[in-house]
Amino acid sequence: METSTLETKEITAKSILVPSKLPGCDFVINCYTGCRFGCSYCYASFMGRFVDKKISDWGNYVYAKINAPDLLKKDLIKLKNKGKGKTILLSSVTDPFQGAEAKYHLSAKCLEILADYGFEGEVSILTKSPLVLNVLPILKRLKNVDVGLTITSTDDKISRYFEKFAPNVSQRLETLKKLNEEGIKTYAFFGPLLPHFVANKEEIKKVLDAIHQTGTRQLFVEHINLSKYIKDRMLEELKDIDKSFLEQFYSSQSKDYRSELNKLILDLLKEYDFELLHEIIFHKEMMS
Ligand code: SF4
Repeated sequence: METSTLETKEITAKSILVPSKLPGCDFVINCYTGCRFGCSYCYASFMGRFVDKKISDWGNYVYAKINAPDLLKKDLIKLKNKGKGKTILLSSVTDPFQGAEAKYHLSAKCLEILADYGFEGEVSILTKSPLVLNVLPILKRLKNVDVGLTITSTDDKISRYFEKFAPNVSQRLETLKKLNEEGIKTYAFFGPLLPHFVANKEEIKKVLDAIHQTGTRQLFVEHINLSKYIKDRMLEELKDIDKSFLEQFYSSQSKDYRSELNKLILDLLKEYDFELLHEIIFHKEMMS
């Protein structure tokens, strides 16, 4: 497995409960700047500009916002009706349960604060990490919570290739299963759709099958976002990639490709009786 040095640092943030324009989400909480999982397709690599890092540094630094819990306590006082009708996503530009969380427990503390406060809205967690299971007792105290695990394949070799320091996909599927057994509401985030799927209905079926077996029935699906800064970093990260595979990445940006893939997926979702939580996501506004 590839290794690289990780720079960690404690910082103080100015805000933590940040208003968001993401679909179905009113606020985001990101307790870390940077993400050790370093996925090659990650759109959040632009966050480096706030901490003087280059796009290509993504995955090699994690800064812990150690005042996040204190800031959250203050922010919650300002919320009307204890947040009724509002949704908070944890997290949008980092993984809330990456390795640093085992040391700092910032995501766990923020969730605890939301539970203690009696937050009336919805808390939505998105992660690739089984560390989320450490906060099961807190999840059970929240009034309305759902936990999503990102599933991009069923093959651990593929997840290691595209998501170099993230937990293997088999661990994520296991985590979904465990959460379902514990009675926590879950969803899978099937995205980004890796381009080789379009020609391969069987590969998509394998992923849906694996998610279905965990007991999860709700899904988000997202097309790959190849904005220029993402594409540049991805090409650097995947230097040894087969050139024909690269052609498929480029063709993934055509409307025809997306239509074909959408149809394939929507038909399969019906077959499996999955609920799609939002129309298949495509960030065309970010295209270059
Ligand atoms: S886990 Fe999420 S935030 Fe972290 S690098 Fe991967 S895609 Fe980006």
